[in-house]
Formats: sequence, structure tokens, C-alpha cells
Amino acid sequence: MRLTRTFIPILREAPREAEIVSHKLMLRAGMIRQQAAGIYSWLPLGLRVLRRIEQIVREEQDRSGAVEILMPTIQSADLWRESGRYEAYGKEMLRITDRHEREMLFGPTNEEMVTDIVRAHVKSYRDLPLNLYHIQWKFRDEVRPRFGVMRGREFLMKDAYSFDLDEAGARTAYNRMFVAYLRTFARLGLKAIPMRADTGPIGGDLSHEFIILAATGESEVFCHRDYLAFDTPPADVDFGDPAALQALVDRWTSLYAATSEMHDAPTFEAVAETDRVSARGIEVGHIFYFGTKYSAPMGARVAGPGGEMHDLHMGSYGIGPSRLVAAIVEASHDEAGIVWPDSVAPYDVALLNLRTGDAATDAACEQIEREFGAAGLSVLYDDRDERPGGKFATADLIGIPWQVVVGPKSLAEGKVELKRRATGERESVALSDVVVRLCS
Ligand code: ATP
Ligand code: MG
Repeated sequence: MRLTRTFIPILREAPREAEIVSHKLMLRAGMIRQQAAGIYSWLPLGLRVLRRIEQIVREEQDRSGAVEILMPTIQSADLWRESGRYEAYGKEMLRITDRHEREMLFGPTNEEMVTDIVRAHVKSYRDLPLNLYHIQWKFRDEVRPRFGVMRGREFLMKDAYSFDLDEAGARTAYNRMFVAYLRTFARLGLKAIPMRADTGPIGGDLSHEFIILAATGESEVFCHRDYLAFDTPPADVDFGDPAALQALVDRWTSLYAATSEMHDAPTFEAVAETDRVSARGIEVGHIFYFGTKYSAPMGARVAGPGGEMHDLHMGSYGIGPSRLVAAIVEASHDEAGIVWPDSVAPYDVALLNLRTGDAATDAACEQIEREFGAAGLSVLYDDRDERPGGKFATADLIGIPWQVVVGPKSLAEGKVELKRRATGERESVALSDVVVRLCS
């Protein structure tokens, strides 16, 4: 893609309303535009990152056995009356009336709707276990939308819902999501730590928030340092083996980790002082088991092996892809701009032509662009008529992992410069080798 043909409205300075670095950088890099409080348009660069995050989330949900569907954003109030949540939800719910005076709402979450789908079609224990997920926009009329897409009112969520015959089955379903989340966040280049969360009236230990450490996080968190060095479960983990899943979850819950709501100072202080981390954190995912809270009032039940009826045991599992875009920027940036992890970068390579209009540099850039394309790497080609300093600054700001710099002097010797954005390391590479160098 050529910079002159796409749409990346770079800003020289961060607008004053942006308080945290991710919001500033996302605005400066032309990724998003605010349309109303907590409501954003996604511009091409931002959308590419959002889509890549979504795809990683999807792949790990699928790997764990969850099945993708797509439920609507607009829901009927009647469905929410069945669970009793229509009145209980309060002002965070955006309520709408249609032309026939029917009460509708913009979904803040989908427990009721997915329970309705399952009660209509799932009648036997043989249809279980089942985990249905979707990746869909939500609306919550947050009291204080802030920090850009970090806390929006309209935001993208992956929400999965598991259905099992009994609590033991639900625990395995929970563990599958727990492990899938560890893999998802690691693939996004993040160290997310599962922390015990409040289970409210449901009780038990099946609720965890996945938190990444960041100075601007809204939560206060406490954990054991060793979590930061734990290995991610491998891609071939057997999601059909309950004991193996339980062993992984046991390991990842063996050390202290809690947000301020669940914090227990004496237990934390029993951890060696050098191993204690107290920091701020961003919640990027939340999983919890809530038993028959929705299935019982809504009549979602199935016949067991002996013909007896069971209310379904459910859990729900959320990840915020739009919040993650900002969270990744919080975790990965420097003074010059964003430093995208390879897995979510909007493009693989930024190609800088230092003298647009020069026959030799133009030809070399076009050749490099073609060859990277053929090798399956995406390129953002800065073909603007702009001085080199401006091109370097833009490339650093938007944070594409590799920069290939084509200038007339080195090109005369058959060379281009390759720069790794994250480390700033540069090397001079023969024009004919640059594609092989990045693909090997
Ligand atoms: P928070 O405590 O941050 O308000 P929550 O507990 O309301 O989050 P859940 O209902 O568990 O969040 O939603 C699942 C995920 O959706 C969260 O972990 C987060 O990644 C994302 N999310 C929730 N609210 C927002 C929001 N206002 N803007 C962006 N993402 C959000
Ligand atoms: Mg919330």
C-alpha cells in the first residue's frame, strides 16, 4: 500500500484531550477519530490492527473448541425481563424504542440472547459441551468514558458462553477458556496475569480477570514476580484432556495475584519482598462461571443420560479487542512512537523512499514492494514527496516493525538500510537480499 493512496491522517501534535500515551499516539498516528464521547471511528491503520487482534482471538477460541456465531447488537427488552436484568442493569444500558413503541436496547452483553438460542435448539446432554462465541460491538453508557478506546461506550468484545450438564463439566469449560486466554495474550505480545476476581453471590473460585501491568492502568494490582516469567501453554495443548487443563490452571493460580477488590495484605506480605509486585494494571479479559443464573429462570435445560432434566451450567468469557489496541500501545511504545509487536502490526514493513521522483530509488522501491508482496509480507510504502526527516519520524510514530530505507547514495552501491523499530538496530543490506533477510 502506498502512503499517498491510503488514508493515514498523521497529526503533528497530540490533541489536548488525550491524557494517556496510547490515546495520544493512536490519535497522532491517525488510527481513530472520536465521534462522540466514548464513540470512535476506526481509520485504516487502526482498523488493520483491530482486525489482526480479532483474528488471533478467533484462532485461539476456535483451537479451544469454541464455535463462532454472530448475534445482533440490538436486543429486545422482553428477553432481559426473563432474567430480571432489564430493571437491574441501570443507566449503563442504552434503551431504545422502535416505531411500534417496542422496547429495545443496544446490547451491553449477550447472556440472555445466547441462552435463548441454546434453549431453542439444545435438548440433550449429547449436544454438550457447547461454547458459543461472537465478536460484536457492545454499548455501555459508562459514567466516565475516557482514555480513548481503552474505556469507550461503544467497544468491540469477544464474548463466549459455555453450556454444560453439571459443575464439573463447567469447570473444564472454564479451564479451556483460561488456557485459551493465556495463549491469546501471549500471541498479542502481552504478559497478562490471571487474577482472582469477585464471584459475588455465585461464590467459588471460578472468576479471573486477565491483567497486564501498565502505569496508566485503572486497577491497582498485586502479584508474585514469577508470573512474569511463566511459559505460555503450547499450541498443541490438548483441550480434550480435563486433567492436563486443570494442571495448567493450577500452575497459573499457584502464586499470589489479586486486584485491589480481592487483595489480602497479610497473604501478600508473606511473599518474599523481592518477589512482590504492586503495580497498576489494565483488565483485558474476564472469565467467570455463574452456574444456572440465566438457564434456570429462562428454562434452558436438557435431558441427562437417565432422562432426568438439568438446568444448564454456564460461564461467560470476555476479551476486549478494541481496548487491547490501546493496551498494546501502553505496553509497547517509546519517545518516538508506537512499537507494534510483529503479530498485530498494521503492516510488516515500512518502505521509505528518501528521494521520491528519482528514477533509481523509485525503481528500487517498486521492486522491493513487489518482492515483499510476493513473499506474503505487507508493505506500507512512503512515496510522499517529503524530506527524509519527516519520513523517518512518521515511520517511527506508526511503529511498523521493520523499516527499509532506500536512499540514492547507498543505492548507488546496490545497498539499502534495514532498521528494526523495536531496538533501533540498523544494518546495510544488498538490495537483492533484503526480502530474503526478512523472510528467513
Ligand atoms: P471494567 O471493569 O474495565 O469496566 P468489565 O468488568 O465491565 O470491565 P466485562 O464485562 O468483564 O468488563 O467485559 C469483558 C471485557 O470487555 C473486559 O475485560 C474489557 O477487555 C472489555 N471492556 C469492558 N468494558 C469496556 C469498555 N468500556 N471499553 C472497552 N473495552 C471494555
Ligand atoms: Mg465495566
